[in-house]
Amino acid sequence: MNLKMNDIASNIVRFRKSVSPSTTLVAVSKTKPISDLQEAYQAGQRHFGENKIQEMTEKWEELPKDIHWHMIGHTQRNKVKYMAPYVHLIHSVDSPRLAKEINKQAVKNDRIINCLLQVYIANEETKFGFEEQELINFLKSEAFKSLEHININGLMGMATFTDKEEQIREEFKSLKNLYDKIKADQLLDSRHDFKELSMGMTGDYKIALEEGSTMIRIGSAIFGSRN
Ligand SMILES: *Cc1c(COP(=O)(O)O)cnc(C)c1O
Repeated sequence: MNLKMNDIASNIVRFRKSVSPSTTLVAVSKTKPISDLQEAYQAGQRHFGENKIQEMTEKWEELPKDIHWHMIGHTQRNKVKYMAPYVHLIHSVDSPRLAKEINKQAVKNDRIINCLLQVYIANEETKFGFEEQELINFLKSEAFKSLEHININGLMGMATFTDKEEQIREEFKSLKNLYDKIKADQLLDSRHDFKELSMGMTGDYKIALEEGSTMIRIGSAIFGSRN
């Protein structure tokens, strides 16, 4: 499918109308040319998601500076430094070592970097993330408490790629339960702005919203399919 420029703008408008104003719509623009992002920008879109640091940085350099850039892909520690000056939210913090590196680069840039902790909820070995108990242990550790330049904004998870709706729903429910538990047990001190649940993509965002998502990451339904 080859979408025309106008279609991107109308997809953005349609999406915005179909979700609650409090839901953050992250337009996932990975692999797409700058002109497609400009079209979305002109339709009012300000949150963009990318999964490669180099590609995101090239787009950040070219596009208006009021865009909020979301890193949604698995991140190599040696590349964190390239996005540390400008990234708005890193969704894919999936290990203590990565959190530590982000903190280090945040210190260097004299800023606080917003992060989501990615949780492994799917039944697929290709996906990344903390196991539930591992995450809880991390939040309770002294090592975590020393990371004063990251702000944990919430959790992110990806459901299994399947058409079994009940399975997807159960996976999202498990993420919401963990989120609620972290809040109820006050595992994060008040310095952290813990309020986001990033779950749902083109194929499963409706289920995700029903299960408590606050942030959906939509690529193909806005920009068309990727090659
Ligand atoms: C590519 C990607 C998306 C968007 O996928 P679509 O199915 O095109 O909406 C969302 N989240 C992550 C982590 C991705 O890598």
